[in-house]
Amino acid sequence: MHLLLMGPPGAGKGTQAANLVKEFGIPHISTGDMFRAAIKEGTELGKQAKACIDAGNLVPDEITIGIVRERLAQDDCKKGFILDGFPRTVDQADALTKILADLGLSLKSVVNITVPSSDLVERAVGRRICKSCGATFHIKFSPSKVEGKCDECGGELYQRADDTEETMKNRLSVYEAQTKPLIDYYQKAGLYLEIDGRQAIDKVFKDMVDALKA
Ligand code: ADP
Ligand code: AMP
Repeated sequence: MHLLLMGPPGAGKGTQAANLVKEFGIPHISTGDMFRAAIKEGTELGKQAKACIDAGNLVPDEITIGIVRERLAQDDCKKGFILDGFPRTVDQADALTKILADLGLSLKSVVNITVPSSDLVERAVGRRICKSCGATFHIKFSPSKVEGKCDECGGELYQRADDTEETMKNRLSVYEAQTKPLIDYYQKAGLYLEIDGRQAIDKVFKDMVDALKA
């Protein structure tokens, strides 16, 4: 099952992707996670991406498309993937269509998680991520059992540098201008599903699985 997860920053894509990995046993491919890993490792890619990410801007298309092309060509993507945070521009979506055609793959669905922008800043600012395993928590909506420690592996939780109120304002306006047009793009392609992301995490997941199995 080859899936795209769409939605504004903080909508719950990473949270639901983790659930979908357990349900369907397919890899979660997040361009944001790939960039953060590169920054942590201090690679050339990380150096190129860091300033864009810290400012809440998009990393240039040619860089982003290149890393996705390489990742999707790996064997584990043949049976499926959950692509999260890519595409974010119409040029990226066109590139993805071409990459998938070259690999002989096709998308099953594009799932958009909708959440009003008024809720998104609180979701992002309260987000906490495990340094070791990447599990996602929220200080209010999905707190870890022990403050600052991951429930899954006991690792230390941290706050992303771009999860500030200030940076979120820019990330949301970038989303409106550059990524939202993809809703129309995938509606026209007949692949689009919409899920109400204001609901509790478990209910969002149930609606998603029901919609995918329908
Ligand atoms: P995205 O990957 O779309 O940026 P995340 O999955 O990281 O979003 O979720 C952003 C924050 O909101 C996280 O702290 C997460 O725990 C929390 N969250 C996710 N889904 C919900 C939900 N349905 N209700 C409340 N909080 C949620
Ligand atoms: P995310 O983890 O999806 O919230 O992404 C964090 C940041 O990584 C974004 O604000 C962008 O700076 C960058 N990024 C992630 N995915 C993309 C993409 N598809 N195109 C450009 N930049 C991206």
